[in-house]
Amino acid sequence: MEIQIGRAALQLKQGDITRETADAIVNAANSSLLGGGGVDGAIHRAGGPAILEECRRLGGCEPGDAKLTTGGKLPARYVIHTVGPIWHGGRSREPEILASAYRRSLEVAMAKGLRSVAFPSISTGAYGYPIEKAARVALTAVAEFLQSHPEIERVTFVLFSSPDLQVYEAALQSIHLS
Ligand code: ADP
Repeated sequence: MEIQIGRAALQLKQGDITRETADAIVNAANSSLLGGGGVDGAIHRAGGPAILEECRRLGGCEPGDAKLTTGGKLPARYVIHTVGPIWHGGRSREPEILASAYRRSLEVAMAKGLRSVAFPSISTGAYGYPIEKAARVALTAVAEFLQSHPEIERVTFVLFSSPDLQVYEAALQSIHLS
């Protein structure tokens, strides 16, 4: 599924983000930036040890912020490491922190002159954010950013499973039609 927002394309697909050829892929990292499971583990395995070496020099990352490394052996040129919120029931600023993680990732991409960015579904794995809620926050934050920043030409959400893709498609339809 793909829609146009201003001049940009917003695309949803199923797949493994480590195989994406975007200018940057985004990592759902933890605050230490020293590696973890899920998509973080997959990115470090596929990208090789150079990414972790760069991460060690970054001094961690606050939830809602984002930092850049090269892509190592990945097809993507860069990795943007962001940290989403851990779900504590929804009243601990989780939506704000999640939206900020998406926005800051796109700001970091823009600062480097990058034009295409691929995101995983941040916080909906080990961090426990309910995916229906997270999808709405993620898509709204990215769509709003694209409306005001035409420098970014393409954002792709790479959902790992078919049920996750379906949740994002339903969320995009409801946002788009409302
Ligand atoms: P978090 O700690 O932010 O919840 P996780 O990595 O545990 O991060 O999960 C985030 C999402 O990434 C989950 O939906 C998970 O299924 C997905 N995921 C795991 N591996 C990959 C991959 N290789 N490509 C894309 N998405 C992935």
